[in-house]
Amino acid sequence: MTTLRHRPYNFSAGPAVLPEPVLRQAAEEMLDWHGSGMGVMEMSHRGKEFISIYEEAEATLRVLLGVPSSFRILFMQGGGLGENAIVPMNLSQGGAVDVVVTGAWSQKSLKEASRYADARVAASNEAGGHTTLPAPATWALRDGAAYVHVCSNETIHGVEMHTLPDLGALGCRAPLVADASSHILSRPIDWSRVGLVFAGAQKNIGPAGLTLVFVRDDLLGRALPICPSAFDYTLVAANQSMFNTPPTYAIYIAGLVFQWILREGGVAEMDRRAAEKSALLYRCLDESGGFYANRVAREARSRMNVPFFLADESLNDAFLAGAREAGLLQLKGHKSVGGMRASLYNAMPLAGVQALVSYMADFARRHG
Ligand code: PMP
Repeated sequence: MTTLRHRPYNFSAGPAVLPEPVLRQAAEEMLDWHGSGMGVMEMSHRGKEFISIYEEAEATLRVLLGVPSSFRILFMQGGGLGENAIVPMNLSQGGAVDVVVTGAWSQKSLKEASRYADARVAASNEAGGHTTLPAPATWALRDGAAYVHVCSNETIHGVEMHTLPDLGALGCRAPLVADASSHILSRPIDWSRVGLVFAGAQKNIGPAGLTLVFVRDDLLGRALPICPSAFDYTLVAANQSMFNTPPTYAIYIAGLVFQWILREGGVAEMDRRAAEKSALLYRCLDESGGFYANRVAREARSRMNVPFFLADESLNDAFLAGAREAGLLQLKGHKSVGGMRASLYNAMPLAGVQALVSYMADFARRHG
């Protein structure tokens, strides 16, 4: 096998960097998984080999996030946007859904939920350009809502909920649904505060296509009749995510990523690293004398996705070209926001962020 040396640092928002040991192991096992004579992509999802891969992935994930036995873990397809429809089809019963809009992704969730339910904005930070987090005490929550939707990390706007809201303390009995696509496994989840969490895999978990859903048992059995069977949580749960053929290779890679996280020290260690890496980058931005800026309120700043701007935007192309030369890839901001964005997922080593801030300081010295 070719030994990959000095891979560039990849700051893509997703699909995103994966741990190198995982990629190496997958490469080694490509033609023959554990002496089975088959690659994982070639196995029946019902055979004992794949079942063992699936069971280990699920068990490791349960340990990593301390998922209580009252939650089912579903390995689905359809991505985050798929879940924007699948969640209301499963939970809303056509009733009220309150959505907290904190950026582009919750905005999309609101729009999609409106097709199946009476979805309304409970709070929004749009007026400030999606740079703050509306305090939960100010959310307009309706009695009898089927659920409250939040995006706990807005990948495009770089706004993160560092704690999940305690809806019970607000007198709200609706379950909380959280789109945790872009920060899952970077911090613990307080399961007492959520009814459902979903996450597309292509940031902190593995290949695009796989979508994880954690759903509390008591929320099963509510799907609308129009819900496709393959997306009905009750059927998917009753069939251990094998109602239809699951994304087998993506589940295998996810399992390798889960084991990598465990070996590295678990979610607690990912949490510590996320704090360290993001603090380093925010310090570089804040201490650049205005050369660079992140516009998000400090308490709402994401540790995973850091959008930033050069004061002189005519330098953007030179910044990106120089970054590429320095082995720092995919730093261009989302087209709807502009500027730059550095995503610091679990698989981004501290050394990558150190290389980024040193490039940024040097660029600012040369152009400041
Ligand atoms: N939610 C969030 C928070 C995301 O970051 C993304 C993708 N970047 C999505 C949903 C949509 O995911 P997908 O493209 O897999 O449908």
